[in-house]
Amino acid sequence: MAIKTIIEPFRIKTVEAIRRTTREERQRLLEAAGYNLFLVPAEAILIDLLTDSGTCAMSTEQWAAMMRGDESYAGSPSFTRFRESVQAIFGFKHVIPTHQGRAAERILFSVMCKKGHVVPNNTHFDTTRANCEFVGAEAVDLPIPEALEPARVHPFKGNMDTARLAELIERVGASRVPLVMLTVTNNSGGGQPVSLANLREVKQICARHGIPLYMDACRFAENAYFIKLREPGYADKTPREIAREMFRHADGCTMSAKKDGLANIGGFLCTNDDAIAQQEKDLLILTEGFPTYGGLAGRDLDAIAVGLNEALEEDYLNYRIVSTAYLGNHIAREGVPIVQPPGGHAIYIDARAFLPHIPPERLPGVALAAELYLEGGIRSVEIGTLMFGEHATMDLVRLAIPRRVYTQSHVDYVVEVILEVWQKRAQIHGLELTYQAPFLRHFTARFKLAASDAATAPSRSKAE
Ligand SMILES: *Cc1c(COP(=O)(O)O)cnc(C)c1O
Repeated sequence: MAIKTIIEPFRIKTVEAIRRTTREERQRLLEAAGYNLFLVPAEAILIDLLTDSGTCAMSTEQWAAMMRGDESYAGSPSFTRFRESVQAIFGFKHVIPTHQGRAAERILFSVMCKKGHVVPNNTHFDTTRANCEFVGAEAVDLPIPEALEPARVHPFKGNMDTARLAELIERVGASRVPLVMLTVTNNSGGGQPVSLANLREVKQICARHGIPLYMDACRFAENAYFIKLREPGYADKTPREIAREMFRHADGCTMSAKKDGLANIGGFLCTNDDAIAQQEKDLLILTEGFPTYGGLAGRDLDAIAVGLNEALEEDYLNYRIVSTAYLGNHIAREGVPIVQPPGGHAIYIDARAFLPHIPPERLPGVALAAELYLEGGIRSVEIGTLMFGEHATMDLVRLAIPRRVYTQSHVDYVVEVILEVWQKRAQIHGLELTYQAPFLRHFTARFKLAASDAATAPSRSKAE
């Protein structure tokens, strides 16, 4: 009989203690933070699912590679190893290191976009949208209609609506569309993958109009593994082969190595265009650093060079996708509304369905995230009205799973806390903003409890 249990494909060599807090302590910390979990000290978090970004546990091979890091200002061999590793997977001609993904975005948009331009994407991530709008361009999200229904199951819910893409380009004119972007996996849309069929179709439309296609490649390895599992014809291909095919259809990419680079910091920008690359490197020198380090230490480049390859290992990807689905399936089974199917790096709770008595303007996602912290010291993040303002089509609470960090018993604990909050959902209050910054307001906003919601909440039976 074949053994079916899927285990963490690593053993633990270094441990870090996590600290329990009392409910009273958490209540006090939450009030002091204005109900914004970004403002709660990390030592007071028991299980931190705020983000999967930069929170990865590095491997022994990555730590060993860091010791080889060469800190030369120019021409470091660490950069050569980094570039070779990136090119072997991504295949682009120019590889420009940056301190993280948003630096790549800022440089890309500064060089390629200006006021009056329109940038289509399946769904812009928050920093992508902000950087695009900062240079005066319009960021347009074109997810497939299925993506807007959280409960709807679709194998490639991250796909772009190609009919709307073609229509948009016709309407505004190709000269106003300097690039099209595809985010793999679609983070803001639920960590959902994009199929190779969709990628090819998007590329065809771009090619017809002479528009370059860039990938927001942060979770390329998870996307490649979903293609292997779900797209006909790819079951026998390796994740690396699939990733290479994905990037063959693109003209460049932005990347945060804090995701599928399995590193704690870093990113890069790639392009096949010589003239664009030159302008990008000039800008890089101005704000990030010389093109052989781009704001990173040599040792960071070495950690990324190894991490990109580990992220494509099949044992790792299987564990990754299965353990994320484990969390999603265990809460969904008890009725908790989540974005279906479970994504690659995170589970997204549909806060509007979880808290139907709280209208979007009272921020049901923020309220639910605060409650999960209060109940069990779990940190999550709202992806909804607070993050995207009027562009929000859903109010989600994202539980992002750091790579190789938590074990199954940690996840069992998270399941128990969520189910406890689910039982008490009718008593949860909405929130009102008391402070907001002019952009990316979710990082620093502060709130107070809105008095009315819980009182007007319909009472529900426990069996529901
Ligand atoms: C994280 C992320 C970014 C930005 O990367 P940083 O390293 O956080 O600056 C861009 N796009 C997507 C899809 C992301 O998940």
